[in-house]
Amino acid sequence: MINYTPEEVRALTEERFASPGAVEPFRCPACGEMDVRIRQYASTHGEVTKTMGYAWCRASRHFTGWTSMYSEDLDDFLVKLPEEQQARFRELSLEGDLDGMFEFLDSVS
Ligand SMILES: [Zn+2]
Repeated sequence: MINYTPEEVRALTEERFASPGAVEPFRCPACGEMDVRIRQYASTHGEVTKTMGYAWCRASRHFTGWTSMYSEDLDDFLVKLPEEQQARFRELSLEGDLDGMFEFLDSVS
């Protein structure tokens, strides 16, 4: 996996928010393919719940991740999955296994 540059992240953010109701996949600012997916989920450590997000391109394997304030209306992709898959993703995330995480995201997206 390859990190998007700050300029690419900005371009991606603009594309995503420029057109209301824009739907996936989004255009990849690195390779130009319409192959970018975005997934967010809630992550709780101790008493604090935050929103974790990832955007990644299935074609060129570029990605970016972020943490933001948790909000009740979060469209959490993880809670829609069977429990063993949720556990598997959290395990990959804890291990910091980026390739494994994005392979997992590919398989459920
Ligand atoms: Zn790409």
